[in-house]
Formats: sequence, C-alpha cells, structure tokens
Amino acid sequence: MSTCLFREGDAITPSDRQGFDRRWSAPNLERVYTPLTADDALNAAENFIHMYNHDEVQIVSGRHCYENFIYSAKTKCIVDVTGLRDFGHDRDKGYYIGTGNANWDMYQILNNVFGKTLPAGSCYSVGLGGHVTGGGYGLLSRLYGLTVDWITGVRIVVIRNNRAELLYCDASNHADLFWAVRGGGGGNFGIITHYYFQDLPRSPDYMYISTITLPWEGITPDVLFQYFQTFAEYECSQSELTWNNFNIIHINHKYTGALSLSSFTYYDKTRQGDINSFERSLIATTNQRKQRYASIGKVSNTPAPHIGHPVWLADNGLFLTADDALPYRKYTYLEGTQNVNGSGPNRYGKYKSAYLKQAVPRDQSDKYFHYMTEQPEGADLSATLFQLDSYGGRINRVSSKETAIAQRSSIAKVQYGTYWYEDSQDPAANEARAAANIKWLQDMYSDVYARWNGIPSPTAFSDPLVDGCYFNYCDTDIGVNNSDYSMNGAHYPIDKAMSAYFRDNYVGSFSHPSVFMVKQTWNPQNWFASSQSIPAVDANKAA
Ligand SMILES: Cc1cc2nc3c(=O)[nH]c(=O)nc-3n(C[C@H](O)[C@H](O)[C@H](O)COP(=O)(O)OP(=O)(O)OC[C@H]3O[C@@H](n4cnc5c(N)ncnc54)[C@H](O)[C@@H]3O)c2cc1C
Repeated sequence: MSTCLFREGDAITPSDRQGFDRRWSAPNLERVYTPLTADDALNAAENFIHMYNHDEVQIVSGRHCYENFIYSAKTKCIVDVTGLRDFGHDRDKGYYIGTGNANWDMYQILNNVFGKTLPAGSCYSVGLGGHVTGGGYGLLSRLYGLTVDWITGVRIVVIRNNRAELLYCDASNHADLFWAVRGGGGGNFGIITHYYFQDLPRSPDYMYISTITLPWEGITPDVLFQYFQTFAEYECSQSELTWNNFNIIHINHKYTGALSLSSFTYYDKTRQGDINSFERSLIATTNQRKQRYASIGKVSNTPAPHIGHPVWLADNGLFLTADDALPYRKYTYLEGTQNVNGSGPNRYGKYKSAYLKQAVPRDQSDKYFHYMTEQPEGADLSATLFQLDSYGGRINRVSSKETAIAQRSSIAKVQYGTYWYEDSQDPAANEARAAANIKWLQDMYSDVYARWNGIPSPTAFSDPLVDGCYFNYCDTDIGVNNSDYSMNGAHYPIDKAMSAYFRDNYVGSFSHPSVFMVKQTWNPQNWFASSQSIPAVDANKAA
C-alpha cells in the first residue's frame, strides 16, 4: 500500500534544513516528504505539484551536494529519499538498490549479500541519489569504469503537464531518458527511486594501500613539475595491466607541511591468479614508485595531513612507517574499503574540478607552485588542497555518446577544495575568512586555466589537455541560471557550465542525444530547478 508521508510545522527540525556542507541551509523549508516506496514518491509528487512552484521543491539523498541546489532560501519543500533503502534481485531486471542508500550501505549490501560491488566513491555518507546519476566514480573506476556504465535500468518519477508518473526506463523503454540519467545528474529529470544492474563486478579479494609523504621542505617549482610528470606517466598509466591500481596525489597547501601520494591496488583471484606472484610483483612496483619520487625530492615516513577525499585518519595505521617490512598494508576488500571511507567533518567548503588528458604542463605547474605556497591575507588555507586522481582505464573504453558523461579520454581528474571553520563570535570575521578562501581558490583556478578563459573547457572542438568539469563536483562560479533558475536571456552563462559538464552531450547534434533535449521532453516545467539545473524553458512560463 502506498502512502503520502510528510512532515511539516513543528515536525521539521533544524537538521532538515542543513546540508553536509555547513554553508548551505534551507531557512524557509515548510514540508519534507519521506517516501518509503517508489509509489510513495509518486504520491508525494502528485501532492506537491499542486502546492509549490517548480523551483521551491528539491530532492535530497545523502546531502553531499557541493553547492546550494537543495539547501537555499528558495526551497520550501524537500523530497528526502532516505527511506528508499530497499534492495534485491529481480528475475528480469537484475540487482536493484534504492536511492536512499549511501555508499557504505551499498558496499555492505552488494558485498555481503551478493559478493558484488560498484566502482563508486569512497566516502561512506555520500548518497546514491545524487552520486550515481551524476556519474559516480571511485578507486575501482580504472578497473570497472563509472557507476553509470553498469546501470541497466532506472525507476523514476517524472512530472509532465502537471502530471506525475512513475516509470521504469532502460535501453528499450524511454531510452532517451535512460541515456540522460546515466550522468545527467541529480535534480534534473525526476525523482530517481531505484537503480538496476543486470550484472555487477565481483568484489575484489584484497585491497593493498601504500602511501608516500612528500614534505614541502625542498619542493621547488622544478620538483613540483617533475612530480606531475611522473604521476602522469606512471601513476596514470593506461596500460590495462595497471587498471587495478588507482593513485591520488594530494597537493596540500604548503602550510600543511607535506604532499602525499596514495596508491590503492586490488587483487581478484579470478583476474590476477596466483597471489604470491601478484604480491611479489606489487612489492617491486611499490618500491619502484617510492624510489621514483625519492629521486625527485624528499620522501618521509611522517604521515602527511589528509585533507581531501577519501578521508582517513593519519594515525589509524594506513600510513607506512620505517618499521614496516612490506611497502603496503593489505586488507580484505570490505575492510580496506571501510578503512578509507571517511567523509571528513561537516565543514564549510568550496570546490572545483577539471578533467586532464595529459600531464600538468610547466606553466600550470608554476602557477600551482605560486598559489600553493602563498598565504593571502585573511584566508585560512590550513585545510586546502587540490588532488589529482588517476583516471581512464575502462572509463575510456566507453564512447562519449554512450552515456551523458562525455569525458572518456582523460588520464586524471583534478579536485580542488578549500575548507574552513567559522568559529568566530563575529559574523563579519567569518564572512571575511570565507570570502578570502573562496577568492584564493577562484584566482588560482582562473589563472591556471587562463588559456581557456578561466574554465578548463576546450575552446575548439577538441583540446589536447582539458576536457571540462565534473557535474558531481558542481561549481556555480562557472555559470548559473538566472534568478528564476532558467536561462539568462541573451547571455546564457549557464551554457558555459553545461558545456563544461556535458561537452557535446549538452546540446548534442543532429544524430546525437542531448541532456538539454531530454530535459525539455521529460521535465519541461523545470521541477527541482536550481542555479545549475539543466535549462528547460523560461521559468516564468513554467511556474
Ligand atoms: C565528502 C564527499 C566525498 C565525495 N566523494 C566522491 C567520490 O569519491 N566520487 C564521486 O564521484 N563523487 C564524490 N563526491 C561528490 C558526490 O558524488 C556528489 O556531491 C553527489 O551529488 C552527492 O550525492 P548525494 O545524494 O549525497 O547529495 P545530495 O546533496 O542529496 O544530492 C545531490 C544532487 O542530486 C539530487 N538528488 C539527490 N537524490 C536524488 C534522487 N533520488 N533523484 C534525483 N535527484 C536526486 C539533489 O537534488 C541534488 O541536486 C563526494 C562529495 C563529498 C561531499
């Protein structure tokens, strides 16, 4: 039996108004729908379309959105899918999982119940609702691609002509919608209730983690440049033999003391065979990696600060010490996944991203050196970094048109992040610190990508170095809808952001799909509109 569950009035608590990022809140929230089934989500939609405007309703799963798409002053109503936690295996449609589950729920369910997994992100509390449809990737993605590459069906509530409908879409049913929800991102097409997978990767048997600390002391512009070249050549190798290895170099700000290089390698007995020879070879490659970096600059056994993603405590034994006989720590797959699944504290933060097809070039490296060693007045850069995640592998075996994720030729993804606390009793001091941190990040980003007018989007059809940005690392600096959350008259700044996120899949071409067209077809009234939702129509007409 389906119901229409919601809370309002005194049953709304401060927790309902708050995102994971402490910058975002919804002070005007009036009502929270809490569906427990897909039919409940349909009932909620049938209810709210008569009560609220298209830009007053938002959907929430894990609350990890980097921007204020959900938690803003505009939001009066939220559909919180936390209650959609069911999972199972359908004889026809395969494995399924509700979008209220978070990453760690998913890893436990798939591993413990089915012996399977997904190449999703590490941080335990990230919700599948936004994460998977945005393209979700993680430590297994070089080996197994993106989460969206495994989806074979999606259950979703769509709203057209003021009518809500619960649909199942797949390659044969509503194929355009199915294409778009695989990468088009949360809040764009409807309320996704379940993801379906005909097949899933087998859980690896073991996970090996090794870390190298690279102290800032002794890092010169030449050293930093060589780190980038070495990382691209070896740690981002596209040889299939290396796809079970994922590396992250954390370029922490100088005032944190050190950079770090973390390597994650998976053993699956059905792929790698004899474990003894696998481990012998891993010891050799891990030692060689350390020697490579030691030949460029200093390496140290002191744990580096761990600021970016995934988060883990530097003192929980994951950092190797001089006493370790082996150059890595070995864990069962589930244990290793849990060891690096920290999401970090709730802080204030600002993020950006870029896809890279080649090593960081010299001019960019020198700019990074400048910004990562300066201390601008008023900013607190003690929790600031950018990290290069090795990328590609199986991700790049899928064509740019296969899903809405167009970026299928990058070797690294760059994540930029600056975090701060607002501890002062003086709100003006807090605001000043936030503004200084954000400005510093904006300055570095636009300077590094100055050749591309400040956004790492190819200015021509293709570009040898950059390939846009990642929708799940959303960044409103790169272009927003107007204040009605629709397109911006003649200037369309939102187009810049959309082109960065979706490249040629934004407006598409004669024979290719486009997230813009699918949005117009399936969500023409722009429900769940936000400052960076895919544009549909003029909001004034839609309201
Ligand atoms: C600590 C942290 C770690 C991260 N690590 C990774 C990582 O390793 N890999 C990676 O790829 N990304 C990572 N991300 C980014 C993450 O994928 C995105 O922020 C993602 O959108 C979060 O999804 P959510 O459901 O938790 O967020 P929410 O804030 O709940 O939702 C994000 C967007 O999706 C929409 N949405 C939510 N649920 C639904 C639904 N059921 N149907 C339709 N729309 C919905 C929301 O309206 C919103 O627009 C990380 C983010 C954080 C904060």
